[in-house]
Amino acid sequence: MIFFGGKDMFDPVSCTYTYLLADVDSKESVIIDPVIEWAERDSELIRELGLNLVYALNTHVHADHITGTGTLKRLLPGCMSVISKESGAQADILLNHGGRVPFGKNSLTAFMTPGHTAGCMTYVCEKQGIAFTGDTLLIRGCGRTDFQGGSSETLYQSVHSVIFKLPDNFKLYPAHDYKGLTVTTVAEEKTYNPRLTKSLEEFIEIMKNLNLSKPKMIDKAVPANKVCGLYEVERKEEI
Ligand code: FE
Repeated sequence: MIFFGGKDMFDPVSCTYTYLLADVDSKESVIIDPVIEWAERDSELIRELGLNLVYALNTHVHADHITGTGTLKRLLPGCMSVISKESGAQADILLNHGGRVPFGKNSLTAFMTPGHTAGCMTYVCEKQGIAFTGDTLLIRGCGRTDFQGGSSETLYQSVHSVIFKLPDNFKLYPAHDYKGLTVTTVAEEKTYNPRLTKSLEEFIEIMKNLNLSKPKMIDKAVPANKVCGLYEVERKEEI
């Protein structure tokens, strides 16, 4: 499998990681959590590698950046947008828990992992031993739970009942990292995550006292992402 992510596909403004996965033989590929400002970069890379982008997935309706899905659909016709049904967003494909997204001989399985938002999903590629946790589980952290139908208790259950149940050696790729870290494992987070190794009660207390300011982009990003970024594309083209 061809894999791009980490610092190669980073948005420094929102500290978002985008991931591109491709099946070597069929050249079918999927992109996870693209960012609108980097859609041209991503489509260029896909073209250079001779890949066919079949799906553009989002782990959730992001509040800190506008998704690149709408622009990628325009740049690479035939590509379909994918998000969870529970997210309430519009997309070509709405996933339920256990839904599969195939690309060549590989596939992603979608697991509902709500808590950061009500519609968060973790995408797991069992064959490669990797998972994309969105904002549900970050490296030594987790996403905030005070907006978009978030719930600390729900996030805790999602991590413990889904992500921590994956094999210990599975590599975990988050949607963001603010310190430049790029990858972790199930075993590492089960041992060292300073929040999610605590009891549920302690975790809820930690999340209650984060005192974070409102995400700067939320009023612009959430409505745009509910239509997979297309709103912003149309608006930009009108200006
Ligand atoms: Fe988020």
